Amino acid sequence: MPRLAESRRHRVAHSCKAEASWGPTMAGEFTIAVALEGQLRLDDQPAFHAAVALAHRQGGGQLIVLACLPAGQRLRGPHQRQLEAQALAQLRARLAAEAIPLLHFPQHSTAAALEAIRPLVRPAAVLYCQESWLFGDWPVQPGNFPKVFSDFRRRLERSPEPPLPPPELRGLGGAVLDWPPNWPPTWPTTSLPPAWLQPAPAAQAGDPRSAFPFSGDEASALARLRHFLFDSDGLRHYKASRNGLVGTEFSSKFSPFLGIGSLSVRRIWQELLRYEALQTDTGGDGADQPTGEGCEWMRQELLWREFFLWSERRHGASFHAPGGIQGRPPQGEPDRERFRRWTLADCGHPLIDAQLRELLATGYLSNRGRQWVASHFVNELRLPWTWGARFFEWMLIDAHPALNGGNWAYLAGVGSDPRSFGGSPRRFDLERQVGLYDPQELHRKLWSYR
Ligand SMILES: Cc1cc2nc3c(=O)[nH]c(=O)nc-3n(C[C@H](O)[C@H](O)[C@H](O)COP(=O)(O)OP(=O)(O)OC[C@H]3O[C@@H](n4cnc5c(N)ncnc54)[C@H](O)[C@@H]3O)c2cc1C
Repeated sequence: MPRLAESRRHRVAHSCKAEASWGPTMAGEFTIAVALEGQLRLDDQPAFHAAVALAHRQGGGQLIVLACLPAGQRLRGPHQRQLEAQALAQLRARLAAEAIPLLHFPQHSTAAALEAIRPLVRPAAVLYCQESWLFGDWPVQPGNFPKVFSDFRRRLERSPEPPLPPPELRGLGGAVLDWPPNWPPTWPTTSLPPAWLQPAPAAQAGDPRSAFPFSGDEASALARLRHFLFDSDGLRHYKASRNGLVGTEFSSKFSPFLGIGSLSVRRIWQELLRYEALQTDTGGDGADQPTGEGCEWMRQELLWREFFLWSERRHGASFHAPGGIQGRPPQGEPDRERFRRWTLADCGHPLIDAQLRELLATGYLSNRGRQWVASHFVNELRLPWTWGARFFEWMLIDAHPALNGGNWAYLAGVGSDPRSFGGSPRRFDLERQVGLYDPQELHRKLWSYR
């Protein structure tokens, strides 16, 4: 939900120095800042609609848009930054067409960004675009919030809310006419070497084997949504194919777009409803799987996403703690050398090393591959799960702290896996898994080299 706040509430100590001599020319009095906290799109953005309504109530106003680090997100890794840059470029161009400036603060929270721009502009109001949720409020009472997914699903008290159309921004531009060159400067808020902030060479070149060869911008996100539901009819096979390991079509590939917010989860849900209605209208074509099943599975996956988002909010710090929401004693041996080799895709198990090579080269891994890697990390390598989770968060193209942490904790037996309560983490028998999901070992062969 958008929050409206006076900018002075967000003043925080910051090391940035104001250069008074290059102040911008202000074109008007009433400036509204829209803070995109990782939500890089115009579709389904309540805050933009609230900004438009506010400007109209004031008899006019000008927007500036700040793209900031989402709350709880550490620095993004190379693959996700590449995607983010593509989404930002398109969004900046769309806003520029209405003369609305977009300022990117890759290392700043919204509070720090507001402080940074204070010498240049002091917005009268700040509106926030935060996480894309299906539900606008707790779908299950927080006091009664379940620890496992099946209870969450059963107890849902509300339906997902419909998405909003893109906002009409005409007439809200022209806030700042003369930003200084090279704005915004980079502030030393991180000790990371500058090379870490460049896209990885593989991400720049694009590995031809990638299961996610798409651009991260909003138009590409919507095109992918349309393709998977309506053009390729991907849902017809989704129930069977979603455990696949190779290629673009075995699953939707929505997660990288959701991760940077160039796609709204409510838009996906609504398009699923539209797709289903069309199938009912036409009676389908009698192909191998009922489409309703594919829709149901996709909805279930989107609810898993929602479950982890609300669980993180419900459980706070324990959600990411080594003992997890079960409060178990930390497990694993802190063997740095074993971990280092794992991060280089050199842990010694050919199936796992192949998965890790794909991760390093492209940032994407199938859900099945992630499960194998995490289970092997915890049960065979016996390393602390939080180390693996942190590395994934840096490397994944769809990195999201709540979804990544929730899945890792689940597989480490400290999270929401009902089988692990009072017992051990589930252990994947890799030989059996390969027989089931990749009998010809296509994935291992594809990723046998860097
Ligand atoms: C160890 C581990 C770490 C993970 N880290 C992340 C992460 O950082 N970011 C992330 O988005 N997903 C994460 N996942 C969940 C899942 O693997 C990916 O969402 C999925 O593989 C993305 O591909 P897709 O969009 O084609 O999935 P699809 O099968 O097409 O699913 C559609 C959507 O449902 C949601 N979804 C599917 N499976 C899950 C799940 N297990 N948990 C939560 N949501 C799910 C995603 O939003 C996904 O885009 C992780 C899973 C594991 C086992």
